[in-house]
Amino acid sequence: MSEVHTLHDVAVVGSGPSGLVTALALAEVGAEVVAIGPVPAPGPRAVETRTAALLTSSIDLLKSLGVWERLACHAAPLTAIRIIDASRSLLRAPDIEFKASELGLAAFGYNIANTALTDALYARAQERLPAVIPASVSNIVLGAGNVVLSVGDGSQVAARLVVGADGRRSICRTSAGIGVSERRYDQGAIATSFSHSLPHTDVSTELHKEAGSVTTVPLLDPHASSLIWVGPSAEIAALMQLAGERFGDALSERLGGLLGAIDTVGARTEFPVAGLTADRLAAKRIVLVGEAAHILPPIGAQGLNLGFRDAAALADCVAEALARRGDPGGDDVLEAYTRARRLDIMTRAFGVDLMSRALLTSRGPLQAARGIVLHGLKSFPPLRRAVMRVGLSPPTELPSLMRPTSG
Ligand SMILES: Cc1cc2nc3c(=O)[nH]c(=O)nc-3n(C[C@H](O)[C@H](O)[C@H](O)COP(=O)(O)OP(=O)(O)OC[C@H]3O[C@@H](n4cnc5c(N)ncnc54)[C@H](O)[C@@H]3O)c2cc1C
Repeated sequence: MSEVHTLHDVAVVGSGPSGLVTALALAEVGAEVVAIGPVPAPGPRAVETRTAALLTSSIDLLKSLGVWERLACHAAPLTAIRIIDASRSLLRAPDIEFKASELGLAAFGYNIANTALTDALYARAQERLPAVIPASVSNIVLGAGNVVLSVGDGSQVAARLVVGADGRRSICRTSAGIGVSERRYDQGAIATSFSHSLPHTDVSTELHKEAGSVTTVPLLDPHASSLIWVGPSAEIAALMQLAGERFGDALSERLGGLLGAIDTVGARTEFPVAGLTADRLAAKRIVLVGEAAHILPPIGAQGLNLGFRDAAALADCVAEALARRGDPGGDDVLEAYTRARRLDIMTRAFGVDLMSRALLTSRGPLQAARGIVLHGLKSFPPLRRAVMRVGLSPPTELPSLMRPTSG
């Protein structure tokens, strides 16, 4: 077994977007941070076809961390969100459009390819952090004053606080003895992108049918959008089997001419539609962020925005401990982080679960309820503005690094 040389303030495990943002946020508030996780593969990655619609507070965090300059040229603004009920139901809801301008905003946020996001964050982490270790953690030993991680390159890393940003099968979560509650929907999702003859005009459209939804999200090219197609697992599996052209035909039929003729469709990846919430957010010098802590169905663009809010909230808690020369992995920090994040995570998980069930339902009473809510939103602008504000911000005060800067 190799010797442990340095005791770091924090080790962040996981080089996905949540982990990299957390490592950078902690470095920004003065913590001494090492990041550990596989290097993102260079170039376009067929397995990562997702984009992330990042809301204004997430964009402000990227600005605070010096990452936005690298990303702005990859980011497509979202100025409006349109919801269309294309079901054949008698209780069909009205079409509704939420406009950022109703809140005095230029955009709700920006859509960015996950690959571009991770590459920019990784490059910034390499500049900003004393060490970025390109390997996986294989073992974790919990001690009273530190946690020791065995890393795949044969080294050992000791830290007073470990951040588990290692995704849905988190070794950090298991090592801390934290269980999970899972929700299953028998739904799948396809993430891809496509080009179309009509411009998207910076509008994202959610089109709902019986037991399924298709969401288009603008890309930088006015004639290209990313796509999330959610439906019953069997339907999604069948769509994945189709050759590119046939999939384009199926998409064209589903969109019903919404963005004109479909030209090319990119690589497709299938994701399970599942919900997961960790029973606790922290224990034994380990805190969880991103998908290690919570997974939401891909409806309403909430998942990664929630992970970014974890990162910024943890930075506030650690900054406070460092300011009083406290222990960044102490119980008080873990408790403060749990207090700061619990309500936001619980309300988003509940809200997205409810939305998934209501939007993907063919059951009469739920469809009727959905119709009534959408009618109310359409005809009552103050209610619409209130719903938009809830969608954009957490129920608690925004963490420091997410507050708008002049930049
Ligand atoms: C179809 C779809 C569309 C979505 N659209 C949006 C959207 O528009 N907006 C939004 O906010 N969210 C969206 N999401 C959610 C978002 O994609 C996820 O929340 C986000 O990618 C999760 O990032 P993460 O860093 O938490 O986890 P991951 O990306 O899973 O990263 C985990 C990292 O940990 C590493 N790792 C794992 N084990 C170890 C180990 N032992 N040691 C070291 N490293 C390890 C992995 O290699 C990986 O790099 C969408 C999700 C889906 C499925």
